[in-house]
Amino acid sequence: MMKPIIKKFMDEVNERNQHEPEFMQAVQEVADSLIPFIANNEKYYGKNILLRMVEPERVLIFRVPWINDEGEIMVNRGYRIEMNSAIGPYKGGLRFHPSVNLSILKFLAFEQVFKNSLTTLPMGGGKGGSDFDPKGKSDVEIMRFCQSFMGELFRHIGPNTDVPAGDIGVGEREIGYLFGMYKKLRNEFTGVLTGKGMAYGGSLIRPEATGYGCVYFAQNMLEYRGDSIKGKTVTVSGSGNVSQYTCEKATQLGAKVVTLSDSSGYIYDEEGIDADKLAFVMELKNIKRGRIDEYVKKYPKASFFKDENPWKVKCDIAIPCATQNEVHSPDAKILIKNGCFMVIEGANMPSTIEAIEIYQANKILFAPGKASNAGGVATSGLEMSQNSLRMNWISEKVDRRLKAIMENIHEACIKYGTQEDGYIDYMKGANIAGFVKVADAMLAQGVV
Ligand code: NDP
Repeated sequence: MMKPIIKKFMDEVNERNQHEPEFMQAVQEVADSLIPFIANNEKYYGKNILLRMVEPERVLIFRVPWINDEGEIMVNRGYRIEMNSAIGPYKGGLRFHPSVNLSILKFLAFEQVFKNSLTTLPMGGGKGGSDFDPKGKSDVEIMRFCQSFMGELFRHIGPNTDVPAGDIGVGEREIGYLFGMYKKLRNEFTGVLTGKGMAYGGSLIRPEATGYGCVYFAQNMLEYRGDSIKGKTVTVSGSGNVSQYTCEKATQLGAKVVTLSDSSGYIYDEEGIDADKLAFVMELKNIKRGRIDEYVKKYPKASFFKDENPWKVKCDIAIPCATQNEVHSPDAKILIKNGCFMVIEGANMPSTIEAIEIYQANKILFAPGKASNAGGVATSGLEMSQNSLRMNWISEKVDRRLKAIMENIHEACIKYGTQEDGYIDYMKGANIAGFVKVADAMLAQGVV
């Protein structure tokens, strides 16, 4: 009965956002669960709230000129999508990757609105970045680029307006250069960016938070059905920030992580990637900025599979932590055939809509990124609080709050996602729980 209504809505959104496939995919995922919910709730029905939510409050696109080490003038495109500020300042990361375009950033900003609401912290949704490729660039080139990027962005952000953070290609080094330039231009020291270094306002546990939160969420899901992550074999994709700390926490809790990857392929280590091996990966990726195949030179019992993803490896739990649309329907089928009973998204939208349909048709446990990777932005929210208080909390306190936030998100998903047969549709639960708070705030604030 709902299908024609959903289709009509999607057609209208598509008409206005043609050639934005990733954004349309993110909207479709939300519309499928929210339109039936709205239709059954007089409070939200007939107010076009979802139509208002898919339209960014503001989109900024700007030129980022910079000079490379050869003295040539380079030009990239910068973006900031200020999606929704109903419940707090825009908040969301910056991505530096050659694939960055309007569609990808709008999908990320849209997802961020729901995710930030789920954390229960007062943060609106935004996202930004550039098609700049940090790979192979010198430190000085990265600094010049970040300074030029902030040379425009500083006008549009602020601790009470819009608070960016890191994402793919933007880690502590880039945040440092961006923060330095903001401070110089504004002549003020404020918590305008999160993911800062500990020496100048960063929060303990922020680097770990997305990966740790993801594993805490997996543990919540497993405990809810009387199981635990201990002893489980886990495949992880990516080898960046989220992957590294997912691997660390899963291993600490007794799981065996057997894969990591990057855009050149994946490594498989049957014996598990323990703390020592992970320390090697962290140095390789974060300091030497090398490629993942170097793992097998150091640990020859492991294997490297060029240009492949890790989803054909037998596992109990798969945690995609690299990028959007990295698990397609054939991958989902192989995962399930090999006995995988749980997919937890560390990345944003790593599963295609078709892959999710396969997980759900087979009733395996599935957590969408907007719920399971919300620990990162939640801890960014805690970093903002510490900056406002001019205090630093100890890591145990931040970790405790992170755990509690992940538990709350899990409970919210159960509340809105439990189906008649007892299966928990975490996607539906996260969409509805995230929507309710934002929608209530929008209704209270009038048509603005
Ligand atoms: P990083 O830049 O630290 O790492 C990204 C990893 O993914 C790298 O190993 C990279 O390989 C790989 N990767 C990126 N793009 C592709 C691609 N097109 N194909 C194959 N591999 C790819 O990023 P993060 O770990 O911070 O982010 C990973 C994911 O998690 C993203 O979806 C991000 O939006 C999401 N996320 C991140 C949060 C955070 O706190 N950092 C918070 C919530 C979500 P290579 O080096 O070869 O490019």
